[in-house]
Amino acid sequence: MHLIEPHEPRLLAIDDSELIHRLLKARLKHEHIEIHSACSGLQGLEIARTLMPDVILLDIDMPGIDGFEVLRRLRAEPALHDIPVIFISSQSNTMDKVRGLDLGAHDFVTKPFDLTELKARVRSALRVRQLIRMLAQRAQLDGLTGLWNHAYFTQRLEEEIANSQRHETSLSLIMCDLDRFKNINDEFGHPFGDHVLEMFSQLLADGRVGDIPCRYGGEEFTLILPQTTIEEAGQVADRLREKVKSLVWEGHPELTLTASFGVTDLYRAGAPTIEAVVAAADQALYAAKQDGRDRVRLAEPKGPPMKLTA
Ligand code: GH3
Ligand code: MG
Ligand code: MG
Repeated sequence: MHLIEPHEPRLLAIDDSELIHRLLKARLKHEHIEIHSACSGLQGLEIARTLMPDVILLDIDMPGIDGFEVLRRLRAEPALHDIPVIFISSQSNTMDKVRGLDLGAHDFVTKPFDLTELKARVRSALRVRQLIRMLAQRAQLDGLTGLWNHAYFTQRLEEEIANSQRHETSLSLIMCDLDRFKNINDEFGHPFGDHVLEMFSQLLADGRVGDIPCRYGGEEFTLILPQTTIEEAGQVADRLREKVKSLVWEGHPELTLTASFGVTDLYRAGAPTIEAVVAAADQALYAAKQDGRDRVRLAEPKGPPMKLTA
C-alpha cells in the first residue's frame, strides 16, 4: 500500500503583483518546490482546488477579494482546509497579523522578502503539511494490521461505486473471514491470533496494484477491486485462499489456517449502494461458510423485480 504521495511539494503564490511572482520563482529556484502563480483571489481559489498545493503564499492587499477573504474561503472548503497559508504583507501591521492568525494563517512574511527567512518559513509550513497528512492517513489505518480501517473502507467503496457508475466500468468486492479463528486464539493464545491477522493482512496487501485491502473488523477483511469483473475477482479470491492455506506457521507446523470468501460485483449487488454491495458479498461469504469453509462463493445474480399482485 502506498501512503504518503512522493511528489515535489507544490507552492501556490496568490498575489496581484507580477513582480512578486518573478521574484519568488527566482528565489525559490533551487528549493525543489514546484511554484504556481495566481494573480487574483478568485483565480487562486480556482487553481487551489485542482492543484491541491502543499503551501499557499497569500497577499493581503489585492483588488477584488482580499487575502483575508481568500483565507476564509479556503478554510470553509474541507479539501483545502488544511493547507498552510503564509500571508504576505507589505508592512508589518500588527492588527493585520492578529486578524490573519485568528483566521487560521500559519505564518507571515513581510515584503520585501529576506530570502533565508522566506525559505525557512516555507520549509516550516511544509513540515506542518506533512504532519497533517500523516495524521489524517493514520486515522484511516487499522492499528494492528496497517490495512485501511472500516471508516476508510466505507468512504472508499462509496467513491469507487460512483467512479464505476460514471465511467461504466466494473467494480468488485471480496469479503473474507478466517475460518474457526476463535479456536486459534483459544489454542495458541491471543498474541498468536494477532500474528495470524498480521500475516493474513500482508497477503491481502501484497496483491495487485490498485486493489484496496481493508480490515472490516475482527477477523473479517475486504478487498475492493476497481475495474474488475466478478470472474476476475473470484480468481483473485481463490489465489488468496490457496496462499493462506499454504502458509507454514513457525512453532506450529501442524497448523493449517483457512479462510472463506464471498465475492460480488456491482451488477450482482442489485443496487449501486454500499449497503447492497456489502450485503451481497456478505451473503456469498455466508454461503461459503455453510458449504464447509475454505472456499470462494460468488454472489447470485439478482432476478428481475417480482411482480406484485393486488
Ligand atoms: P467462522 O469459521 O464461523 O468464522 O468461526 P470463527 O471462530 O472464525 O468466528 P467467530 O466470529 O466465532 O470468532 C471470531 C474470533 O475472532 C473471536 C474473536 O475473539 C477473534 N478476534 C477478533 N478480533 C481479534 C483481534 O484483533 N485479535 C485476535 N487475536 N482475535 C480477534
Ligand atoms: Mg471467522
Ligand atoms: Mg467473523
